[in-house]
Amino acid sequence: MDVRQNPEQEERFSRIAELIEGSGTIAICAHTSPDGDALGSTLGLQKVILSRWPHKTVVGLLADADAVPRIYSYLPGSGALVHARDYEGAPDLFVSVDLSVAKRLNDAEQVMLRSRRTAIIDHHPCDDPYADESLIRPEAAATGVLVAEFALHLGVDITPDIARCLYCAIATDTGRFQYQNADPESFSVASLLVDAGASPSELSLNVYQNFSLSFLHLEALVMGRITTFASGKITYSYATTADLERTGASLDECDGLVDVVRSVSGSEVALFLKEVPGGKVRGNLRSKTDKDVSGIARRLGGGGHKAAAGFTYEGDIDQALAAVLPPLRSLFEYVDPDGTIIGERLDPRLIAADRARRSGGSATGQVRA
Ligand code: 5GP
Ligand code: MN
Repeated sequence: MDVRQNPEQEERFSRIAELIEGSGTIAICAHTSPDGDALGSTLGLQKVILSRWPHKTVVGLLADADAVPRIYSYLPGSGALVHARDYEGAPDLFVSVDLSVAKRLNDAEQVMLRSRRTAIIDHHPCDDPYADESLIRPEAAATGVLVAEFALHLGVDITPDIARCLYCAIATDTGRFQYQNADPESFSVASLLVDAGASPSELSLNVYQNFSLSFLHLEALVMGRITTFASGKITYSYATTADLERTGASLDECDGLVDVVRSVSGSEVALFLKEVPGGKVRGNLRSKTDKDVSGIARRLGGGGHKAAAGFTYEGDIDQALAAVLPPLRSLFEYVDPDGTIIGERLDPRLIAADRARRSGGSATGQVRA
């Protein structure tokens, strides 16, 4: 199996391996509200390190106080993950996977601050990673791809359990190999992992065909209120605490709901909002085209990738919509040199028609403001 290696990555892996080599106790943690890539990469890396250095103490942490989401509890080792707030040690090395910003470590930030050295393996764009050593490659489809390549770098035998964890990471972060990030590298690494014992059907049965009835009732509510605007290019929907109470669904089950919102034909960007405890709203943004939603998430205090980003907003759903919909709308606006918003960037015919109309010309055509 030919998985491309690049020299800079190899160099960075070597330096991370040296840090591991020089550490007795290693803690690994991914971001708050962990998804399949976060959990799969944490567990996969833990097993990779233990396979190469069996005498080291390697603990996998959870950034939040919540249990592992039910759909990921099939991952081998998930039951032994430790809540960061219950971990009192000061590890020699703290490795964060699938995140580069300390803020998103939640409870684990304190563990990171107590650690002697730090490292990052991640695929989120980050200008200012906090760690001593890092491998951050935003073009990588998932952190799981990078952990698999780290295993290859170390010459570690990829066991079936390592493969199951990393396959989950890659399959979920590519939306089952459907999103823009599903590239040849992700397929090559996934193929290698399936060869090593990962099972695509195990992943599907646990993650995508394992919804509670409560969740499906919530999904029906969310579907029922999908709204489109900007000529159908923007879609959004939301779930309130009252919806969760009414249906009995839990917050962590809501993770995939943005995919329902984005599935509307003709939509280019999608927004899903859910109320979370503490008077806050969690937002997921997705882009199906070249529109970049990460800047909007960043301006709201969040972050992420061009095509998949998130944020947390202090306020209620109405306030969050008022803050997010205008910048989403402006992704599709064309601003005339005189400052007038006259139409959608993607339709030059409408823009030309509008110009002609406003200058007294005869072109016909309706332009939406
Ligand atoms: P999701 O919408 O699934 O929570 O996140 C989409 C992507 O954006 C993921 O890669 C996630 O790690 C990133 N992301 C989500 N929320 C935040 C946030 O609040 N801050 C940062 N820096 N990244 C986020
Ligand atoms: Mn990821």
